[in-house]
Amino acid sequence: MAGLQNEVTRDAIVVGNPGDTVMNNAHRVQVGGSLSGLMNAIILRHAGYKVNVLERSHPSQLYSESAGLGVGPNMHALIEKYMPAHEEYAIKMTEYELWDEQAKIQEKRALPYPLRMTNWRTIYDMLKSALMIEWPELPSPTYQTNAEVFDVRGGSVEVSVRYRDLETGAEEDLQTSFLIAADGANSSVRRKIWQDVSPSYAGYVLWRGRVPEGQVSWQTREALQDKAVFQRLGNGYMLSYLVPAEPEEIRRDSKHRRDIFWAFYDKVAKDSSQLKETMTDVDGNVHHNTITMKKIQPGVWQEAMGRIKLQACPFYGELMEKTTQLHVSAIQDFPNTKAVFCDDKVILAGDAMSQCRPHAGGGLNENAFQALELAKVLEGVSTLLQWEEICMESAAKARALAIETGKGFLPPGTIS
Ligand SMILES: Cc1cc2nc3c(=O)[nH]c(=O)nc-3n(C[C@H](O)[C@H](O)[C@H](O)COP(=O)(O)OP(=O)(O)OC[C@H]3O[C@@H](n4cnc5c(N)ncnc54)[C@H](O)[C@@H]3O)c2cc1C
Repeated sequence: MAGLQNEVTRDAIVVGNPGDTVMNNAHRVQVGGSLSGLMNAIILRHAGYKVNVLERSHPSQLYSESAGLGVGPNMHALIEKYMPAHEEYAIKMTEYELWDEQAKIQEKRALPYPLRMTNWRTIYDMLKSALMIEWPELPSPTYQTNAEVFDVRGGSVEVSVRYRDLETGAEEDLQTSFLIAADGANSSVRRKIWQDVSPSYAGYVLWRGRVPEGQVSWQTREALQDKAVFQRLGNGYMLSYLVPAEPEEIRRDSKHRRDIFWAFYDKVAKDSSQLKETMTDVDGNVHHNTITMKKIQPGVWQEAMGRIKLQACPFYGELMEKTTQLHVSAIQDFPNTKAVFCDDKVILAGDAMSQCRPHAGGGLNENAFQALELAKVLEGVSTLLQWEEICMESAAKARALAIETGKGFLPPGTIS
């Protein structure tokens, strides 16, 4: 397998403008404009490429799924490298408390690595600004929304990408010598070029919510102040931590600076009517990933909240009652062994490459690792073959750590 350096030369021939720097004219197409899509697009741009991002969803739809997010060391390193002037974006945690049912501390434990707790939208906005920033000596990127890719074909020199404008229905073809598929765990590009892997349901769902810190009683605020807390419950486990409020919320109300984020892993058997009911929205559509607050059936949430409140300490009961942002997700993951296709012309990135359960907060960290390693390929210090190997090895470790962490908290038998 050739390194990406050969791709650069090939692009120069295709574009054929020897008067310019070779890379300035090299077009790269990127499918998926969520966090890994943006990270890889930034890295390509810094290496001198013209990047076209094709993203299926409208930004308002993306924002509606934003919840709490843990930023690990690789993601922080990426932020420091490509956004050195960034403002404070997170609240740092190095350990957590494990509570019993009466909210008494059983023990304090170190997190697998320091995590900066924040929210998805803050990171998305930071990455998007870093990608789109004016930079006269480099070609401007494009970030196209409502653009759904539905066909990818590898040719001998280029890859052909066919996409649909979801507003107008118009279809268009793009040719590129390098395609990054960062279109999530259910990647349609992966399915087109390689059908060997697909995510499978892990046996539990995750309820996630946020409450402005100022809206809870002082007792709850004090109990959950500046710490991450875990509590094992009969049917799963609960955790909470502080996150900055989303930029938009702070702009609306300068006193609203922090939220308490909570999450509950809820054991729900595969193929059960409970799972079907939980993942069916108010319009009767069945989801495989996430349902946002407005679409969750109120009865389903009331039932889950009632069950959780019976077991959890009162602080969590209060958080759930006052929740202003809520999501429910079916937890899934998959192992993988391959990320480079079509003679080095297509690569998978982010959750499209590999997906781990969120227990150890490692998903985003892995996505950042892949992007930082890709930068080394673009710099010529490693090859795509080495990139694929190192990413696969790291992803397997992150997946194993996530499963082990989940086993430590979930009721016995939930993860076999
Ligand atoms: C809107 C959103 C909010 C999220 N919020 C959180 C959160 O709060 N906390 C958390 O821990 N994790 C969250 N996640 C998951 C987290 O972003 C991912 O687990 C991780 O960062 C990997 O991201 P990714 O970019 O590889 O995949 P994803 O984040 O899944 O993004 C894939 C992107 O590809 C787009 N896409 C899919 N198919 C196509 C297609 N055919 N054509 C064009 N575009 C396509 C999707 O619209 C999506 O934007 C969220 C994901 C999304 C999409």
